[in-house]
Amino acid sequence: MRYLILSDVHGNLDALDAVLADATGTWDRVIALGDLAGYGAEPDLCVELALGRCDVLLAGNHDLAVTGALSLEEFSPGAAAAARWTRETISERNLEALRPLPPENLEQEVGLFHASPRDPIWEYVLSTLQAELCLDAQRHRVSLVGHSHVALAFVRRGEGVAGTACPNGARADLREGKWILNPGSVGQPRDGDPRAAYLLLDLDRWSATWQRVEYDIAAAQAAIRAAGLPDSLADRLEYGQ
Ligand code: ZN
Repeated sequence: MRYLILSDVHGNLDALDAVLADATGTWDRVIALGDLAGYGAEPDLCVELALGRCDVLLAGNHDLAVTGALSLEEFSPGAAAAARWTRETISERNLEALRPLPPENLEQEVGLFHASPRDPIWEYVLSTLQAELCLDAQRHRVSLVGHSHVALAFVRRGEGVAGTACPNGARADLREGKWILNPGSVGQPRDGDPRAAYLLLDLDRWSATWQRVEYDIAAAQAAIRAAGLPDSLADRLEYGQ
């Protein structure tokens, strides 16, 4: 089984369209690790497209803020403004579709979490120390996480944990060791590469390949500005930050 792994679309329809077009024919199932909404200007179209195309969908902290399951007090001012705007804008039908989504799914061959195996809603797994604690907590040999918007892999082989950044074309051989993989973000990358990120996971070969694809950043920025969302949310897209 080959999986297309997406995370952190954040209402960026141009980026989601580009990823789905780029990855066509390379996967059997699609998994989205949460945060369909928040930051971007097209939450409705992103939720509808994801509902139609994804086999497994998780909720992220931003989705949970939009549905009201999380308070906005825990969010930065820009993120809270975007969540408030999304609450007012999103259709009732899409809100109902987001409501039952869980932040983790333990029923698959790999562990699926929006944020981390220890805290599926909030923890950013960015250091080897955190990865070590998460690897202790996870019961699957391989877990997938999103949330940090940084394409990364952590592995424990024997003693100690190693972490690596995973730029376009990076590959990992998952046949041995215990892993945490982050595909990076579709709609708001924060690792310095502004292109939309995704991961192809081949569970027949136990290999992972990180991919980046160009999308129409100017169109996504124009949509954010036209919606009256904070300018900073548009600006950051072209820097990948
Ligand atoms: Zn996110």
